[in-house]
Amino acid sequence: MRKLLTVCVVAALTAGAPSAFAAKAEGAHASAATLSPDAVWHTLAAGNLRFVVGHPAHPHQTVLRREELAKAQHPIAIIVGCSDSRVPPELVFDQGLGDLFIVRVAGNVVDDAALGSIEYGVEHLGATLIVVLGHEKCGAVSAAISSPHAPGHVDALVQAIQPAVHVARTEKGDLVDNAVRENVKRVVLELNNSKPILAEFVHSGHLKIAGARYDLDTGHVEIVK
Ligand SMILES: [Zn+2]
Repeated sequence: MRKLLTVCVVAALTAGAPSAFAAKAEGAHASAATLSPDAVWHTLAAGNLRFVVGHPAHPHQTVLRREELAKAQHPIAIIVGCSDSRVPPELVFDQGLGDLFIVRVAGNVVDDAALGSIEYGVEHLGATLIVVLGHEKCGAVSAAISSPHAPGHVDALVQAIQPAVHVARTEKGDLVDNAVRENVKRVVLELNNSKPILAEFVHSGHLKIAGARYDLDTGHVEIVK
């Protein structure tokens, strides 16, 4: 564990991230209009590092912040995450009120309603980065591996994840983890190609879509490519 934390800290500092022990979270007054996609990721990665080492800053959770947000919201990023109770984006990235526009569905898959939410976050709220956040030992992915069908509406999730499972079965290594990564990559591709709105924002350089995986043990979020 100590070695893992050291690797995380070194990696973040090498990338120019601020000290994990900084009392104030980076980007305290930033808005989507002023942050590039890369700068947004830098902010999220720095927050994740604070979370990993157990020194979260809990930014943007004051009464003043709440009152300011009552007028308008300018989230810096959209997170497409799993419903899993162990992966709450605000905690994982050490963010606060008004920072993240979040869509959570088991298996971090996207249907039309989720896509409409994402489009709203990009077009009307000005978010410049979407993070598709899968995670270790995802139950929805495991269900899709266990059986080609599932009872009730869970089947909709299983069907959405099946293509990733098919690819993962051809790969070496841990089947569940490979399927988690393939599922993230497929959703990223789906969003990048989503017309008319998301694809246009990506093409114009105003939006980036990144895949990521959360480690339940370390709390670390890594980029999935
Ligand atoms: Zn999950």
